[in-house]
Amino acid sequence: MISLGIESTAHTFGVGIIDSKGKVLANVKDSVTTKSGGIIPLKAAEHHIACCDTVVKEALKKSGLSIKDVDLISFSQSPGIGNCLRIGAIVARSLSVIHNIPIIGVNHAIAHLEIGKLICKTKDPVMLYASGANTQIIAYENGKYRIFGETLDNGIGNFLDGFARELGLGFPGGPKIYDLSLKSKKYIELPYTVKGMDVSFGGLLTNLKQKIASKKFKKEDLAYSVQETVFAMLIEVSERALAHAGKKELLLAGGVGCNIRLQEMCDKMCVDRGAKFFVPQNEFLVDNGAMIAWLGLVQFQNNGRMKLKDAIIKPYLRTDDVEVYWK
Ligand code: AMP
Ligand code: MG
Repeated sequence: MISLGIESTAHTFGVGIIDSKGKVLANVKDSVTTKSGGIIPLKAAEHHIACCDTVVKEALKKSGLSIKDVDLISFSQSPGIGNCLRIGAIVARSLSVIHNIPIIGVNHAIAHLEIGKLICKTKDPVMLYASGANTQIIAYENGKYRIFGETLDNGIGNFLDGFARELGLGFPGGPKIYDLSLKSKKYIELPYTVKGMDVSFGGLLTNLKQKIASKKFKKEDLAYSVQETVFAMLIEVSERALAHAGKKELLLAGGVGCNIRLQEMCDKMCVDRGAKFFVPQNEFLVDNGAMIAWLGLVQFQNNGRMKLKDAIIKPYLRTDDVEVYWK
């Protein structure tokens, strides 16, 4: 069975093609980039409209298949920016109707988790999902992927991009902060905000703006200290989720997961508590079509068929609203 998946929750329009053995045959994407960072929903939707045709064709070409070989069209149905989700859903419904292929809509965060499980061969991980807009600690318990902790305000990636903008580093900020952090080992005390199992970055960003304006601190010391602080917050909550849920595997997902320092800290925490740490290649950490194709295939093969009238977007549907019937 061949599944074609369409990702369009935010800045990325991605198309992935995967077979039932989990072999990724293509994973093509085109992402909106802006000088200042951030996403203007209408502009992102226009971007997706402009590139959808090319990305679908490119993915089919890479896989060596034609649309006639595709047995399932999967698309990201939730959660995400309405304007962006809608374009992916329209492309998916059009392909489904024109070529008479079954369709299925899937949850984006769960797709990150299931592709991570496939690529890294993990069984029952706690996932630290650290992306631009999302920061959640997710694990399976009692029929659902539960959110054990999450950000109370910004996603960590958006926070890092905001901090980088204040430093004049450009967008995307995460990698630039990482490069700068390598030039320092001087830790500056910063607000550390963990509330129960949740984290928050808003107050820290305000504090950093004040520090930058005071001109008393070196950029590289701030970059180093920011990483050490916010990643430690994520590690603390992830470790507690591992302990609480009694799990032994930590899986990283999301664009911020590409950060080598975050990966080192995850690994160290796991070694210390006798757990295993897993991180897929960057192409599967960031938003991508292959993860949507894979989750669609898994759900479809477990009686998750969807009527065309149900193949609509659900921008606000959370991970723990989804009944996990395929486990
Ligand atoms: P996503 O929303 O999952 O596509 O991730 C996008 C976010 O990942 C942006 O906020 C980037 O700044 C961030 N990002 C990408 N690479 C890195 C990196 N090496 N370190 C930290 N953040 C990163
Ligand atoms: Mg994502």
